[in-house]
Amino acid sequence: MDTDPTQHGTHGTHTSTRCSGCGWPEDEAYRVVSRHTVSAGQIVYTRCPCGRLRVRLFRVPGAVHG
Ligand SMILES: [Zn+2]
Repeated sequence: MDTDPTQHGTHGTHTSTRCSGCGWPEDEAYRVVSRHTVSAGQIVYTRCPCGRLRVRLFRVPGAVHG
């Protein structure tokens, strides 16, 4: 078996990050805590199944330029 440096640390084409605590994909919101609309889009606070609080920014196309 060869160790190819170009394939180091990659698991297929899935690039989504998972929680280091419970493995929940960060693309999915387990429980939405609160939402805050800002100029760049919308900030959403979500909670993980393991209880960890996360903050995500959903950018709205066209909201920044102007
Ligand atoms: Zn978690």
